[in-house]
Amino acid sequence: MAKPLVAIVGRPNVGKSMLFNKLTGRRTSIVEDTPGVTRDRIYGECEWCNRTFSLVDTGGIEPGTDSDMLKFMRRQAEIGIELADCIIMVTDVHSGVTAADMDVATMLRKSGKPVALAVNKCDSVGPVNPDVYEFYALGIGDLFETSAVHGHGTGDLLDWVLENIPDEEDDENNDDGLIHVAIVGKPNVGKSSLLNQILGEERVIVSNVAGTTRDAIDSEFENETGKYVFIDTAGMRRKSKVDDMIERYSNMRTVAAIERADVCLILVDANEGVTEQDTKIAGLVHEAGKAAIIVVNKWDAVENKETNTMRDKEAAVRDGLSYMTYAPVVFLSALTGHRVDKIFPMIRSVYEQNTTRITTGALNSILAEATARVQPPTDKGRRLKIYYMTQAGTKPPHFVFFCNEAKLFHFSYQRYLENQIREVFGLQGTPIRITVRQKGDKEE
Ligand code: GDP
Ligand code: GDP
Repeated sequence: MAKPLVAIVGRPNVGKSMLFNKLTGRRTSIVEDTPGVTRDRIYGECEWCNRTFSLVDTGGIEPGTDSDMLKFMRRQAEIGIELADCIIMVTDVHSGVTAADMDVATMLRKSGKPVALAVNKCDSVGPVNPDVYEFYALGIGDLFETSAVHGHGTGDLLDWVLENIPDEEDDENNDDGLIHVAIVGKPNVGKSSLLNQILGEERVIVSNVAGTTRDAIDSEFENETGKYVFIDTAGMRRKSKVDDMIERYSNMRTVAAIERADVCLILVDANEGVTEQDTKIAGLVHEAGKAAIIVVNKWDAVENKETNTMRDKEAAVRDGLSYMTYAPVVFLSALTGHRVDKIFPMIRSVYEQNTTRITTGALNSILAEATARVQPPTDKGRRLKIYYMTQAGTKPPHFVFFCNEAKLFHFSYQRYLENQIREVFGLQGTPIRITVRQKGDKEE
């Protein structure tokens, strides 16, 4: 179950990014002079009173303008409204209520979501700033005076958020069946094209300039196979560009998107094969323990295809990403749409495996059979004894073995048992974590 989502909306320059930084306590948002940069829709995790939720800075809503970028920004904000549990509208006490604020406030009231109004840049502590009163005209009753710079008012705002997001228990029970999918890969590999192909509309700006789609956009999607939330992510550039501020943050956002995802689609270019950058991105997915599918895109652009081309390419891709043998590989074309539908059954399959829970009883009967078939190893006369095993968690499935001496539990024997579990319980498509505990170890 994904974390509750809180969206920050408002005109440009009111201090959304800064408030976002203050609330998340991390520099995941960018306050820079580069045009458009602060307008990205940016996620961060926020912790307050032992609750965590995701915060998203949606960028400005600038009504009445017709440039493509602004339309795009409005659309992003609309999607934010669509997906958020509650909304923080930010305004600027110095500029007073503007026509744009009125427009946004109306949009928000219509959304029916809980809305807090942060009248920002109230930098001095003391009696209520008289300039604040006019903001009641926006018709949003939950009003907070804030200073994103100094942090005043942010505690009250966070208290309000906790009252307006679903309870934790509800989170557990209220499984809405949505699978969160992150599309990751280097710039220009076709992430936006794939998302557009899936959504069937131009929701994402696609461009030949690497890095133009630098913000993450969540899109809900439903078809006959189920319901999904697609998280489009910025690509990662080469090391030489690391000092590019924007890109540094984009990488962080790719990481954040992977964290939020249930399933990651790792895009690789069919002609280029697996590059160093692909290996790094896939490595992040692997380390996060996420279910993954390797999507070899631009299949249409591969020339002189023969009977064995796909088999050879698959072997090369597998070789390049040898640490994720569990990930299925699919060849498709985001441009033509060819075989794009193939990914849905795959997503469901790897998701189900990643979230599987196996009873301790079932695990231990497999363990008994497996250890009878292949004896546990010995070392200098001492034999490994595995007392029992249990599943400690999901996403990914995490198994704990309790034994006499951990150092006798050689990697090859672990691998053998892991393979047995994968085979018996149909867990070929997910990473698995294994922990070995020995007698005397403290239990978790
Ligand atoms: P955004 O476009 O809404 O995301 O706004 P930014 O966060 O980029 O902030 C716009 C400008 O307002 C920046 O120059 C910030 O330094 C300034 N700013 C943001 N919050 C405050 C605040 O609480 N007090 C003051 N005095 N300035 C602020
Ligand atoms: P992103 O940076 O990963 O989001 O990549 P884009 O979706 O913006 O695609 C980059 C370029 O590759 C665009 O010119 C696309 O038209 C092109 N492209 C994407 N997918 C395919 C494909 O399946 N086949 C071909 N031939 N081109 C593609």
